[in-house]
Amino acid sequence: MFLAHLPAGYLCSHAILASCKNPPRNLRPYLALGMLGSIAPDLDFIWHAFLDPHPVFHHLYWTHYPFAWALPSSIALLVCLVLGQRNAALGVLLFAANGLLHLLLDTPWGSIAWAWPFDPTLMKWVSVPHNQRLWLLNFVFHWTALVELSIITAACALWLFRRRRAAQQAKPVAIIRRERMLSAEIGRRIAKQVARSCPRQID
Ligand SMILES: [Zn+2]
Repeated sequence: MFLAHLPAGYLCSHAILASCKNPPRNLRPYLALGMLGSIAPDLDFIWHAFLDPHPVFHHLYWTHYPFAWALPSSIALLVCLVLGQRNAALGVLLFAANGLLHLLLDTPWGSIAWAWPFDPTLMKWVSVPHNQRLWLLNFVFHWTALVELSIITAACALWLFRRRRAAQQAKPVAIIRRERMLSAEIGRRIAKQVARSCPRQID
């Protein structure tokens, strides 16, 4: 997956926050943490491109190993819960869940070693044929690009919906009342106009 990791993180973080019984008042830091987790595995590109003297396929770096996400985050989650730090536990959950989602979304195209350390085999579900000169176009013209497009569309739809709702909630009550009165007045005037233009019924 190329472009949909961040939108997927946005959707996943909102789903987790929506399922919280007592969510924190300010959701923004938690949303940001979840979205950071959704792209964190690809930070290995920096190491791959600039620091590693013998670069390998970037899914072979530890940030793309599910075990490297699952073990430390499970321990951190447990510690937070034992200490009664609910908000910290939520932060860990958001970061780790989005990191693992990234690996899940990378699997169809890019191969992930899900069974490591027991088995180092890279697993993938779909093989994208390499027919195009530019390697990126192989993925753009493959049906799996529709999955990516759907995730981006869903995230944009959710963002627009939430933005609109926030704008509505931010409106002062007086303005909302005035708008309602105005639309009622317009309705009355239209009704009057219609009544005047209709021919009177003759008894
Ligand atoms: Zn990745």
